[in-house]
Amino acid sequence: MAAAASVQGRLEGKVAVITGGAAGIGEATVRLFTKHGAKVIIADIADEEGLKLSESVSPLGTFIHCDVSKEEDVSAAVDLAVEKHGKLDIMFNNAGTISSEIRSAVEYDMKKFDRVMNINVKGVMHGIKHAARVMIPHKKGCIINTASIAGLLGGVAPYSYTASKHAVIGLTKNGAAELGNFGIRVNSVSPSGLATYFSMQHYEEITEERKAEVEGFFHSRANLKGATLKVEDMAQAALFLAGDDSKYVSGHNLVLDGGSSVVNHSWG
Ligand code: NAD
Repeated sequence: MAAAASVQGRLEGKVAVITGGAAGIGEATVRLFTKHGAKVIIADIADEEGLKLSESVSPLGTFIHCDVSKEEDVSAAVDLAVEKHGKLDIMFNNAGTISSEIRSAVEYDMKKFDRVMNINVKGVMHGIKHAARVMIPHKKGCIINTASIAGLLGGVAPYSYTASKHAVIGLTKNGAAELGNFGIRVNSVSPSGLATYFSMQHYEEITEERKAEVEGFFHSRANLKGATLKVEDMAQAALFLAGDDSKYVSGHNLVLDGGSSVVNHSWG
């Protein structure tokens, strides 16, 4: 009995904030973390989906409207964790966006560039800053940022997205360097491609058929055959980095790409 409890309760007593928690990787992580006993603040701009999810993981989940590009929203999400549950153990800075602009530098729309940087880079920095604010006094904590293989490679995504995810890996390293002095670990996870709304937003309607089409595309680019990356795999990676099994891991970028980024072929 005791062994079974520890398998399911790896985050028992822990408190987490998950940005972009209403859908995709964030939603899968909310479900897995609560299954393992964590209390979770679901911080997202998607109110309807976020509220629905918080009800389905009740009483462990609480939704808060949070646009990560706004520092005051991220600060409020962190404060909610502390007010409601007394502390913050895990900050998962997962929210992110991509723009669909063409990949030509000459014709680049700099307004779109700013939008992506505000969400993907400033959003993560807001999360690191405010998580650190409440974690430092306790001399412990864990911060996880969602980057991408576009944070390692060129030419697999538009300029803004590539720059933003390289920056997320940089923020992770800086966070680990500074916050390690306070017992706080900072790591990132880098997926290749998953069939979520994020990667399918160019479709007017998202159907199972289109999902399979997008998965097929990613699969054709993958080096490792016979497996497809799912949001649940990302949630498991976040669970590993959030829990005590990774207690000496910091400044690490955990890549979930089936080995693609070590092989010299084009993704784009
Ligand atoms: P998704 O679209 O399924 O979920 C993203 C969530 O983030 C949504 O609930 C959305 O409402 C929320 N969000 C968007 N902008 C926000 C903002 N400003 N503030 C707060 N919440 C916001 O996408 P996903 O695939 O789960 O993406 C999650 C992360 O994974 C992102 O950082 C993305 O860059 C990264 N990623 C995704 C892929 C992929 O192929 N899906 C690949 C590499 C990296």
